[in-house]
Amino acid sequence: MVARRATVRDMRRSNRAVLLSKIYLDGPLSRHELTQLTALSPASVSTLVAEFLDEGIVEEAGSVESDGGRPRVLLQVAPTFGHVIGVDVGETRVTVELFDMSMAALAKADYPIERASLAPQTTVKHILDGIAAVSAQAGVDPGDILGVGVAVSGVVDSGDDGLVHAQTLGWDGVPLRSMLRAGTDIPIHIDNGAKTLGQAEMWFGAGRGVQHAVIALVGSGVGAAVVAGGASYRGSRSSAGEWGHTTIAYGGRQCRCGAKGCLEAYVGAEGILDRFRDANSGRVAEGIDEESAIGAIIAAAESSRTAEKVLTETVGYLGAGIATLVNLFNPERIVLGGWAGLALGSRWLPEIRAAAGEHALRRPFSQTEITLCQLGPDAVALGAATLPVAKLLSDGGVRAARGDLDPVRGPRVRLITA
Ligand SMILES: [Zn+2]
Repeated sequence: MVARRATVRDMRRSNRAVLLSKIYLDGPLSRHELTQLTALSPASVSTLVAEFLDEGIVEEAGSVESDGGRPRVLLQVAPTFGHVIGVDVGETRVTVELFDMSMAALAKADYPIERASLAPQTTVKHILDGIAAVSAQAGVDPGDILGVGVAVSGVVDSGDDGLVHAQTLGWDGVPLRSMLRAGTDIPIHIDNGAKTLGQAEMWFGAGRGVQHAVIALVGSGVGAAVVAGGASYRGSRSSAGEWGHTTIAYGGRQCRCGAKGCLEAYVGAEGILDRFRDANSGRVAEGIDEESAIGAIIAAAESSRTAEKVLTETVGYLGAGIATLVNLFNPERIVLGGWAGLALGSRWLPEIRAAAGEHALRRPFSQTEITLCQLGPDAVALGAATLPVAKLLSDGGVRAARGDLDPVRGPRVRLITA
């Protein structure tokens, strides 16, 4: 690619992106605050805000008193400016949700799947049916939908081909985006579910206010979203953050990725249940699914020595895994989530912190806060819906044209601070 000078148009678009991102992520804000929080001049802020108001993407949201002067008008992104759809391709169901710009959920469609039938074609059909269903439910013209974000497990290649590699699902280079494009002309964005959930926690949940964070997610699988300097850390081809497949025990338990001794094989739901069965003379925990079985073990923590032993070890492994994140990334905050992470963390967060402290270097550990996710375990579709919003923000509020070749992954919005 030939390097070119930034044109005035590029500059204007980038200023719009900075300002709109600030209003969206930290609003409502006054013009005065926007000038202070960005490197833009009062005149630029005033001109761009006038454009946004004119275009309807920003609206007034009351006013605040200022010291001695006139009241300052607050600005926010208009919830009704457009709609976005988020899709969670989970291991047991495909969930499709439609949101307005304030991320209020307006419609939802759920498609349970048998594990065996999670063929890419079936997934594509559920997603396309879901887009039609939620648009109809919410009475939104599909033409007014800004974009669809799809969160999948596994690695989403950030190259032009945009392939999904989900080793644990048997997806090896599935061209999910081009398959979806054959059925809809709404712009499609695909990313790994841990990264999208991480983006949602950074924007609306427990990650707000920090620039260096790791969102650590423990469910059936184990993954992490690493945020460095306000931007998602992705590595060369987007697979960074596969925390679950870092080795916690050399030559240890078999992981479903094929390697031995991965963290996921110890603290992922399946790993916990397998360890419980092994400790319980081959008898499995009761429950109709992984979630209820883990719930049963946790409920038995005080009455069963086996449950207590397995959970104490789980807390230890999890703490050791978190210590690795502390030592590698020196985050300001580690946010523990995922349904199993929340189930364990809401009961044993002090013990998990203590275990992390035993395995981490003292200084970075003392600089790291360890908290729980705020958006809950079912926020994957919401996280996916942040992908088209991020695209809109980074484009400075200019809607993507239909049929445009969008990047495979959502653009990263760098949080600008003064
Ligand atoms: Zn593994």
